[in-house]
Amino acid sequence: MSAASPSPTRVALTVDMEPDCPPYLWTWRGVTEGAPRLLDLFARQGIETTWFTTGDTARLYPGAVKAVVDAGHELACHGVTHQRFDWMPKDSARWEIQESTKRLRDFAEITSFRAPYLRFPGHYLDLLEAEGFRLDSSQALYKKDVPGVENGPSLVRIPASITSSALRIPKLLREFFLSRKPDPVVLFVHPWEFVDFRQSNLRLDCRFRTGQPALDALSSVIDFFKGRGATFTTMRALGEEAHARRTPQAQKAAA
Ligand SMILES: [Zn+2]
Repeated sequence: MSAASPSPTRVALTVDMEPDCPPYLWTWRGVTEGAPRLLDLFARQGIETTWFTTGDTARLYPGAVKAVVDAGHELACHGVTHQRFDWMPKDSARWEIQESTKRLRDFAEITSFRAPYLRFPGHYLDLLEAEGFRLDSSQALYKKDVPGVENGPSLVRIPASITSSALRIPKLLREFFLSRKPDPVVLFVHPWEFVDFRQSNLRLDCRFRTGQPALDALSSVIDFFKGRGATFTTMRALGEEAHARRTPQAQKAAA
């Protein structure tokens, strides 16, 4: 048994604020109906979260973006049009990053990025650094197919821990998986998961237990981590803690 008590697990709950279930639907019920339910849940739970938001969301639903910022959550960047960066020429990638950042910075400071579909080529990281990003969460611990450099001179990468639909599976199985995730735990959900799409003809993993069951499951996930003494934090805070731990050489290179 170790003499020092382990520090509590840090959990970042993140929301990818985008059209409904891309590339299948492209409607906006998640932003108009699901996001307010999430904001209510987070207020009841008293936790700060991070919202990776597309530039199109900010253009079409500025009120929804303002509500996130007004509630004290971190606003973060998810590109403009929710296209895959690994299929995109570098000029298009640059436009997606610059344009979305410009739109989102009308609402709040933006320092965290996540690419749609959790696919972002490592050789595009310089585009993020040029726009002043400090944190990239475009990788996933459960995906091994995207090669990429780890971190840039002024940017740290912190991957997502588990896929969003896994938070909707039955409680015992879900908690079995969650209890095995190393610190920091990065969870993500989409507002459309909190709209009832169970009767739609969407792909099964997009529609099963959506709506109220998804909201109940997410509330239970938050309670599960709180019960284990975990602390909830934002991606920005996780990123800055990671920056502070980097070697003096890396910090010097970033200066
Ligand atoms: Zn997305």
